Amino acid sequence: MEFLALAERGLPVTRVISRMALQEILARAVGEDSIMNESNVVDFVDHGDKVTVELENGQKYDGDLLVGADGIWSKVRNKLFGEREATYSGYTCYTGVADFVPADIESVGYRVFLGHKQYFVSSDVGGGKTQWYAFHQESAGGSDIPNGKKKRLLKMFEGWCDNVIDVLLATEEEAILRRDIYDRTPTFIWGKGRVTLLGDSIHAMQPNMGQGGCMAIEDSYQLALELGNAWEQSIKSGSPIDIDSSLKSYERERRLRVAIVHGMARMAALMASTYKAYLGVGLGPFEFLTKFRIPHPGRVGGRFLIDKMMPLMLNWVLGGNSSKLEGRPICCRLSDKANDQLQTWFEDNDALERAINGEWILLPCDEAGSIKPISLSQDEMKPCMIGSSQHEDHPGSSIIIPLPKVSPLHARINYKDGAFFLTDLRSVHGTWITDNEGRRYRIHSNYPSRVRPSDVIEFGSDKASFRVKVTRSAPRESEKKGTKLYQKE
Ligand SMILES: Cc1cc2nc3c(=O)[nH]c(=O)nc-3n(C[C@H](O)[C@H](O)[C@H](O)COP(=O)(O)OP(=O)(O)OC[C@H]3O[C@@H](n4cnc5c(N)ncnc54)[C@H](O)[C@@H]3O)c2cc1C
Repeated sequence: MEFLALAERGLPVTRVISRMALQEILARAVGEDSIMNESNVVDFVDHGDKVTVELENGQKYDGDLLVGADGIWSKVRNKLFGEREATYSGYTCYTGVADFVPADIESVGYRVFLGHKQYFVSSDVGGGKTQWYAFHQESAGGSDIPNGKKKRLLKMFEGWCDNVIDVLLATEEEAILRRDIYDRTPTFIWGKGRVTLLGDSIHAMQPNMGQGGCMAIEDSYQLALELGNAWEQSIKSGSPIDIDSSLKSYERERRLRVAIVHGMARMAALMASTYKAYLGVGLGPFEFLTKFRIPHPGRVGGRFLIDKMMPLMLNWVLGGNSSKLEGRPICCRLSDKANDQLQTWFEDNDALERAINGEWILLPCDEAGSIKPISLSQDEMKPCMIGSSQHEDHPGSSIIIPLPKVSPLHARINYKDGAFFLTDLRSVHGTWITDNEGRRYRIHSNYPSRVRPSDVIEFGSDKASFRVKVTRSAPRESEKKGTKLYQKE
């Protein structure tokens, strides 16, 4: 299915499903009456032919086996193997969900933004919602003042591109959670007798590959497969079902794949956290080199890795070992791409930008704040004229900026071949662009200069600036208020 069709139907273009939606699907599938909430297991006894669990309220239940799927702080694992400290990743993570659809939803559904000692991930999860994760390197155990999470995040990511800031602004404070990220090195043995472990209880991993939950689901699949086989075997042979062996077989089938994915998740964290865009970042006394913006050599190696290794790796991780996980539909494999433009967009930023299907807007900042946001026409025959007085003798629209440094006929913005161009019309005080990287330059008169999302345009004076934004709909009041954050010092 095309990306657009997926988005229109409210389905996630990324195939990433939100946790709540998945839980509802799973709960409905097993039948809600077979789920017992408020059942805190505090102890268990393996009798050899059955397992008895004891709940916090003293109730006891017998079963053929016990699966400890009780997460990273698992009591079942503690009782089986003794208590061990989890490993702190060095990162705290804020997560949130917002009613937000990026303008380029048809081309990009999942993004990772790298910075020094912090990174940000956002993903379309369908239904007009975006889920995001903000990672920040700091000691474990930190907390925020009441209603302070969003404010801290906006400070932490100040100066980052619109894709990050816009989704943060669109998130309600109450929808933001924070937790420190821990993992556990998976052990070789996952259980004893009729008791086994599943998911985070045995292989909690860092969330960088988005695979912890997926691995838990694959575990469940394999476990059900092994128990089903043992059940059929027992019917055929007339002997009792061999639970111990099927649990051992489950463990054998899962541990290598899980260990590899676990290692990859740690490696991804290492790569994300050591990423440096420019030479000088984090170099202490040589930090001054950063201002020369010399690309860090690590970027070349990183790019090579992403181009050559990533598709193979993702295919294996996301596609799974389909000979074992039989029945898994082909659409789960990455090779079944939903769009044949993927490689072009990966390599060509300009093609990616031209593929954006949104509304281009000039959002006024500072002294231009009293002017309404300006929608730019994508009709090649209707340019937008900017000046301090009215111009009615042209086919496009007029924007009047009544400020002293704006010339009567100052500049023109026109659309051509999927891109916008700004032309200074010999204005007295000039037209300026500050680009995404913070470079500010005066554009040549009578020569069209390309305008890109997030650029800040100044007409004559830095007091009347406009930020170029691309949205799916007109910007909301909250976004307009957020423009202060966009200002460069
Ligand atoms: C920030 C972040 C982002 C993530 N993103 C992704 C992602 O994009 N994709 C992905 O696949 N994974 C992701 N993960 C990982 C995923 O959340 C976990 O791997 C997954 O939830 C593990 O499932 P689980 O059932 O093993 O454990 P949990 O989800 O932790 O569930 C354990 C359950 O056991 C219950 N429990 C605990 N103790 C007891 C007890 N004594 N008695 C009874 N019940 C008990 C708990 O209440 C809980 O309901 C992310 C994790 C984090 C932290």
